[in-house]
Amino acid sequence: MESKEKKLISVIVPCYNEEQSLYYFYEEMNRTALQMPDNLFEYLFIDDGSKDGTLTVIHELMEKDEAVKCISFSRNFGKEAAIYAGISNASGDYAVVMDADLQDPPGLLPKMYRAVTEEGYDSAATRRVSRKGEPPIRSLFARAFYRLMNRISDVELMDGARDYRLMNRQYMDALLSLKEYNRFSKGLFGWVGFRTKWFEYENVERVAGETKWSFWKLFKYSLDGIVGFSSTPLYIASVLGTVMCGVAALAIIFIVVRQLIFGGSADGWPSMVCILMFIGGILLLAIGVLGLYLSKIYLEVKGRPIYIAKENSVKNEKKE
Ligand code: UDP
Ligand code: MG
Repeated sequence: MESKEKKLISVIVPCYNEEQSLYYFYEEMNRTALQMPDNLFEYLFIDDGSKDGTLTVIHELMEKDEAVKCISFSRNFGKEAAIYAGISNASGDYAVVMDADLQDPPGLLPKMYRAVTEEGYDSAATRRVSRKGEPPIRSLFARAFYRLMNRISDVELMDGARDYRLMNRQYMDALLSLKEYNRFSKGLFGWVGFRTKWFEYENVERVAGETKWSFWKLFKYSLDGIVGFSSTPLYIASVLGTVMCGVAALAIIFIVVRQLIFGGSADGWPSMVCILMFIGGILLLAIGVLGLYLSKIYLEVKGRPIYIAKENSVKNEKKE
């Protein structure tokens, strides 16, 4: 660091096929940096295995500006891995995670910085209060997901929370101490605790390119969140099993007694088929839930690295 008072902020930007928006982002972010003359900035662009010219654009920026650094993954590892790579390679006193598409307005940064430095918060987070520009069905499912999550999990999830967040060193180290492979950042942020100030803003549409999230990807992402931060589905499966057993026991007693008193009642096989199918369905569902947890444990136990970098300018710098 050049000067003692000037605090360094690491700007972490996960990029997957963002060649069209990166320049806009860089310029907009630089404008914000000019408003914060008492800070130094470093840019950590994490190329998450992009298939377009993202890496070339990052290299061009690196040539122009010393503050730009690049970590390039060997394939697409996902945004969560990119966030982890960014935080673990950041040398700033503070770090902020921002999307490359300007949906996380850099203009909020000075206010967020004040919250963390002057108002005693450990992190400053953001949430969208509107979802305009998003397909209504997607908003509906997103809302339902947050309601469900908050009910079945101990960590609090804020509806509309973004990954756009400024954090201090202590908060970053806490995040890094969570070594899990299945990283659901929205949950991890809440799990580590500390004091967080929330900033709200209206949804902004992305500046260029298109969203990387299909409905199916989002669905899988929400399952990751549930499995990662709640055991409630497992409880539900066992409670349901117990209840079914109780009902079956009562039914058996009823049938035996009826047989003993009236005799000869062999009819009723359609209802039997229904019941069998019902129980079979519940069994399969319970096994499926179990399998979901098991698959996560399997991945966790293998202890694979969260990402593999084929290029890391931060590491090279440290070596020199
Ligand atoms: N992203 C990433 N890896 C992925 C998908 C997305 O690094 O596999 C990045 C992407 O480049 C962007 C941010 O994550 O900077 C958010 O992605 P996107 O804008 O597609 O999501 P949305 O804003 O639509 O939720
Ligand atoms: Mg976006």
